[in-house]
Amino acid sequence: LKKAKFTKSFELYTPGTVDTARRRFSMETDLRRALQMGELELHYQPLVDLDTGLLSGFEALARWQHADLGAISPVDFIPVAEESGLIVPLGRWALEEAAKTIALWDERLPGQQDFRISVNMSAVQIQRDDVVEAVSSALRGANIAGNRMTLELTESAFINDPDGAKRLLDNLKSLDTNLAMDDFGTGYSNLAYLQQLPIDVLKIDRSFVSEMMVNKDKRAIVRTVLSLARALGMKTTAEGIESSEISEVLRRLGCSVGQGYYFARPMTGDAAYAFLVADKSSTTI
Ligand code: C2E
Ligand code: MG
Ligand code: MG
Ligand code: MG
Repeated sequence: LKKAKFTKSFELYTPGTVDTARRRFSMETDLRRALQMGELELHYQPLVDLDTGLLSGFEALARWQHADLGAISPVDFIPVAEESGLIVPLGRWALEEAAKTIALWDERLPGQQDFRISVNMSAVQIQRDDVVEAVSSALRGANIAGNRMTLELTESAFINDPDGAKRLLDNLKSLDTNLAMDDFGTGYSNLAYLQQLPIDVLKIDRSFVSEMMVNKDKRAIVRTVLSLARALGMKTTAEGIESSEISEVLRRLGCSVGQGYYFARPMTGDAAYAFLVADKSSTTI
């Protein structure tokens, strides 16, 4: 009995625990360095208008190629950035980089300035006083209009301080940016409250979209979100579309925009620019 007890408490300090702490520590150190050295990149995933099949914009997604460990997923490094506060400079970097990309592609494709780029904003980032300034300075720095950018926010950013959130979104809206609620359906939305926010787009989470053909409950949630958005005068984007069937069903249900591997994976800036050019030439022929 004694031995078992000892083993059990000993397990609290198994090498696994130490490794996790060490890994976290070194990931934070490495991420700080990567940010300073410019080792992060934005990749861009096309967003497609489901009615016309044409490109409506891109979502910017952070990518980190670690010198020793290879590609590290944002699913792993964004939480570390949030806990360490590095999300603040990382978030500024993403806004500035996306704004510069819009300006660069506009310059290369004159007269065709109608695509948008979406940027993910962490809850930690939007709870800071300087977030509106960060967005406006990115727009000003690249000399682009606010309506060229969509800010993707998550519901978790609003639970604690609904009144503050409303003020903040009104301020972001006054920069003329487009606002999207990301991963919609996974949080604890207060619907009465949602209606008061100046949200333009509900993004239906991939967990509902990818299984909607095989799971009736998920399909019901997708339908409900689409009709909610319609009732509130919001547009909808479905993420995680991996087949033509899902794309077609969503189009028939009135979903505005689709995103997913069926259309294209996230790609480098150069590849995304080529995608944009190909899309433009398909309409001007
Ligand atoms: P998200 O904002 O919900 O982004 C969509 C994620 O779904 C991306 O994963 C994208 O690659 C993936 N995806 C899109 N279509 C498909 C599909 O058809 N199938 C599958 N299996 N996946 C698909 P990614 O790039 O790994 O990013 C994960 C999350 O990391 C993002 O989820 C976002 O929450 C966060 N993130 C990424 N970049 C940034 C950033 O610059 N700032 C912040 N704050 N968060 C970021
Ligand atoms: Mg997103
Ligand atoms: Mg999303
Ligand atoms: Mg998601």
